[in-house]
Amino acid sequence: MEIRKTIIIGSGPAGYTAGIYTARAELKPLLISGSEPGGQLMTTTEVENWPGEPEGIMGPDLIENLKKQAVKFGTEILADTVTEVDFSSKPFVVKTSDKEFQTDSIIIATGASAMWLGVPGEEKLKGKGVSACATCDGFFFRDKKVVVVGGGDAALEEATFLTRFASEITILVRRDEFKASKPMQERALNNPKIKVLWNTEAIELIGQEKLELVKIKNNQTGEESELEAEGYFASIGHKPNTKIFEGLLELDHKGYIKVKPNTTKTNIEGVFACGDVIDPFYRQAITAAGSGCIAALDAERYLSAKE
Ligand code: NDP
Repeated sequence: MEIRKTIIIGSGPAGYTAGIYTARAELKPLLISGSEPGGQLMTTTEVENWPGEPEGIMGPDLIENLKKQAVKFGTEILADTVTEVDFSSKPFVVKTSDKEFQTDSIIIATGASAMWLGVPGEEKLKGKGVSACATCDGFFFRDKKVVVVGGGDAALEEATFLTRFASEITILVRRDEFKASKPMQERALNNPKIKVLWNTEAIELIGQEKLELVKIKNNQTGEESELEAEGYFASIGHKPNTKIFEGLLELDHKGYIKVKPNTTKTNIEGVFACGDVIDPFYRQAITAAGSGCIAALDAERYLSAKE
């Protein structure tokens, strides 16, 4: 079996940037794109803060551009999902459902995925009014009442986006204030279609074929009531995609991969991690891309030193 110089796992801005850099360094990278190719940008509308795009760019277009650039320099893309890795000996082993690869270095860029509340009815009604992505599914809620859960930037961005379609958006915030930035708060609060219920939690989602009611509770008074809604969007943050690395790499208490300060080096020499999978704080497309660049440089230096 051919031993590859580097394999990149993940296809968001971190993965593709690592692809661009390692390909230009002639490491002939193989990038395995994963179960959600393109990552979170694929479910984003306009990205206004990607430097060099003064008019903004749609998330999927940005991903397509990054992919083209990575492929142009020779990154090989495999549309598959990594099911298992073995870091116990060198070369490392990377397995998908039907393929196995050996590699001298690995760059992990598996990102993070949306979190759910876990209340009764949520799982059953996913795809039947229950979603974690307004930009993907908002279109289906024209003139309907919807609920958004969360008080961060993402929740307010989703709620504001939903005003294009829905007749009424109720945001459920578990505290008596938003976590979101001031401009985002102002934009949402100034929209007449958006209503906020403070100190309020969703406790059950009710519906047979599709969502009909969201049962809510005021966590100060204990009072329970029901909201009519055909849409429910959970927007309460993300968790890192590190399941396959549990027990193999050092992770923090939230499951993010730990890296050595100011590097992308994990606790295993030759295994690097970048982007949202190491970053619970900044989580921007540009910081992920920067981190992918650093991982590629770290991998390149590791391989040169080894040679
Ligand atoms: P955040 O972690 O910032 O916010 C999560 C929100 O969900 C908080 O209000 C939190 O409440 C609430 N929450 C968490 N768990 C529960 C629960 N079980 N029940 C009810 N509410 C819950 O995540 P986001 O996804 O909003 O944002 C992630 C990062 O991405 C942030 O850094 C954000 O600034 C950034 N971002 C930036 C955007 C932009 O600038 N355009 C757009 C979107 C995201 P509490 O406050 O009580 O903890």
